[in-house]
Amino acid sequence: MLKYTVDKQLGGEFDAIVVGSGPAGATVARELSKRGQRVLILERGDNEPLKEGLRAAASILSTVSVGDNLVTARAFTTGGATVVYFAVADFPPLETFLSLGIDLSGELEEAKRELPLTVLPDELLGSQALRVRDSALDLGYEWKKNMMLIDLSKLAPGRSREAKWNARRYVQEAVAEGATLINRARVLKALVEKKRAIGVEYEIQIGKKEFEIRHAFGAKIILSAGATATPIVLRDSGLRNIASDGFCCYPSFVVFGMAPGLKAGENFIGCMGAHVDEYINVGDANFARAYYRMFMLGSRRFIRAFCHSRSVGVGVALKDELGGGFQEDGRYHKRLTKEDIGRLEKGEQIARRIIQNAGGKRIFTSPLRAMHVGGAIRIKEHIDENLQTEYANLHVCDTSVIPESAKITPTLTLICLGKYLANRLSQAA
Ligand SMILES: Cc1cc2nc3c(=O)[nH]c(=O)nc-3n(C[C@H](O)[C@H](O)[C@H](O)COP(=O)(O)OP(=O)(O)OC[C@H]3O[C@@H](n4cnc5c(N)ncnc54)[C@H](O)[C@@H]3O)c2cc1C
Repeated sequence: MLKYTVDKQLGGEFDAIVVGSGPAGATVARELSKRGQRVLILERGDNEPLKEGLRAAASILSTVSVGDNLVTARAFTTGGATVVYFAVADFPPLETFLSLGIDLSGELEEAKRELPLTVLPDELLGSQALRVRDSALDLGYEWKKNMMLIDLSKLAPGRSREAKWNARRYVQEAVAEGATLINRARVLKALVEKKRAIGVEYEIQIGKKEFEIRHAFGAKIILSAGATATPIVLRDSGLRNIASDGFCCYPSFVVFGMAPGLKAGENFIGCMGAHVDEYINVGDANFARAYYRMFMLGSRRFIRAFCHSRSVGVGVALKDELGGGFQEDGRYHKRLTKEDIGRLEKGEQIARRIIQNAGGKRIFTSPLRAMHVGGAIRIKEHIDENLQTEYANLHVCDTSVIPESAKITPTLTLICLGKYLANRLSQAA
């Protein structure tokens, strides 16, 4: 007989336990709570309000290695990575999901009504973004404005972060509707009996360096711990075929130049860009000052870190081939193929041309980063159209289930998927 340690203050079984409070988990929790369900949110990170600036962002960011010299960033805090993200909001690939038996069109319409979706007017683009745009257009690229999750009515000089929508808002709404949020609770695995998930095991921080293992029980368990964490939790819950086809890691980098005479202020990074082909995207990569400094210091460009106002940047993002998997030590690992490397080189040449044409000098390319892990959990293979794993009542809803072919910024898709899953679970209840 297994012995469980339950936090008595939590009471009995929940209707749903949501693991992680990024955009996907926050949406599921909000939607289920609004329908009167008893929801528990277990969040690994803290719930402190995030202050402006470099140190605050660095305190919640962590990196995971996914291959040789390839790391990806994530954020441990209520709201997940949306607390530090850029707020670019591509629409979900409806056709791709439809071919997998998932219709997100109703959820997208609902999200459009609720969220501050906008394209930025020219006067808010910033001189760096405009310089890069003019150069890209001049070279013949279809440099289009991106949809952003920014509330223009909340914009004030130097306070751009507050105008960006982030998933904390949905967590707060879930809590206002009665959901219980527990922070500093890292879920280790789902508790499974006779191929049915019945709860989770989590480690909770109870003192500066003290941790305790606890258990919580729910009728439905929803893993929304993010693209790198959820596959590990599934694997540790006994599912052996996760990442069986490998994964994508969407390598990306930024080409920077110094444009004499430019006097940049603040900028919404990612506000514009172009699809080069089926694999390569290029786009505006002019960071806000604090992030620019953090990025340059991380790239060991110590002098440049203090030259934000003259800097111009173009980002390159690639959809790489599926490959790699978990190593024996349990960590992700993949090697980029020759084709991937060729495409990255092509992207770099394009970005360099745009920067040069924008008057950029002293051009340098930042180290390669992985944007996130995709394709490790596949709809119709590892989960069904209810996002349910082979264990009954164990569902996955986060970036890890977005089909790897979708070359998108994930947040809006995750909000739609969160609404979709909540609809499915409510219908089944
Ligand atoms: C710098 C940066 C800029 C970005 N810009 C954009 C952008 O412009 N547009 C866009 O769409 N996307 C952007 N992204 C990506 C986007 O933020 C993420 O894709 C999105 O937040 C993923 O949502 P998620 O719900 O899958 O997981 P996450 O946001 O990663 O949330 C997962 C949550 O689960 C928690 N967690 C992790 N492990 C556990 C565990 N074991 N137990 C309990 N809790 C756990 C984490 O603390 C976190 O709060 C950006 C990301 C970064 C880092």
